[in-house]
Amino acid sequence: MRKLWLIFLFAIMLIPLRIATVSAADVTNINWVTRIDAPVPFVRMVLSLSEPVKATASIDKSGQTTTITMENSNIRGAQQTVYMDRTIASKATLTQTGKNVQLKINTPSSIEPKDIKVFTLKNDLKNNRPYRLVVDIQKKGVAPRTTYYGSKPATAPKTTTNTTPAQPYSISGGLKGKTIVIDPGHGGSDSGAVGSTGLMEKNVTLPIAMYLKKDLEEQGAKVLMTRTTDVDVYGPYASGVDELQARSDVANNNHADIFISVHINSFNSPNAIGIATYYYDKTAYDTRLATDIQNQIAGEPGFGGSRGIQFGNLYVLRHTTMPAVLVELGFISNPTEESLMRQPSVQQDFARRITQGVLNYFNK
Ligand SMILES: [Zn+2]
Repeated sequence: MRKLWLIFLFAIMLIPLRIATVSAADVTNINWVTRIDAPVPFVRMVLSLSEPVKATASIDKSGQTTTITMENSNIRGAQQTVYMDRTIASKATLTQTGKNVQLKINTPSSIEPKDIKVFTLKNDLKNNRPYRLVVDIQKKGVAPRTTYYGSKPATAPKTTTNTTPAQPYSISGGLKGKTIVIDPGHGGSDSGAVGSTGLMEKNVTLPIAMYLKKDLEEQGAKVLMTRTTDVDVYGPYASGVDELQARSDVANNNHADIFISVHINSFNSPNAIGIATYYYDKTAYDTRLATDIQNQIAGEPGFGGSRGIQFGNLYVLRHTTMPAVLVELGFISNPTEESLMRQPSVQQDFARRITQGVLNYFNK
């Protein structure tokens, strides 16, 4: 993320953004998504660019119109009007004003500079990604949540099995020969949550996942990892979706029987504690897997006990085709749990407990 400078100018806020532009940039595409995987939901807009741009952002006096000006740019292919999430940012309009392109964003509530984040992503030649300008706008008037993975819809999500008549994963018969994909959360340019002593989530999830790999292999399972070192899975500074799809692909392409994503929780108060397992019941077995694992990990000594299994509208749970869970092994924002989770003996015990949960699942 690039650093932003704030300049206050009457009631108008300007945010000048980075570096010189060599040649005119084409704005070739605009995408948006509502993201709920944060304490406060936000709309993310991603503009594809042929070159890096210099951009400034300003919010008008009413707070309901934000204008991002991209200097020395041309609209070339991007849709000019986009209707988005009516509760956060209702509409985005691209207009050519001389040599510049303006992106006007209408918000139903009055927003302030702290509600908006503008940053650029470099192009990624290896993965054929263009330069991108990213605009995040947070929802107004909602309190940050400890569990922010969405609530369970009134009707269960549709299964995705209608194109695959035979169930492609196995659910019984012990662990021997089963294919398990372990996803150590975050990595590389993405540290995940950071504790008060500076401990990074990515550096806790990886050793736990490596211990888990060893334990599961000892039980006869074939284990694949989405990463085994401190790297991004898709590529540095990829969009969140690319990164999470790359992790899901490891499981889908290898016909895994189950998928386990390892994470550590965090909240903006040090008081939140405990252990949770998230599921998205796209198959008939996601909740069973979540229950079997949660029953084991929740008993880890010294931690705040069970927060239960919880429905999670999470990308890796939704986009994997086999039963999948995402475990949140305590809160890095709680000093007691943070000091425990950095200990190899505790990390090993989490791995042992997850393995027991997986054994119980396959032994039904
Ligand atoms: Zn995480």
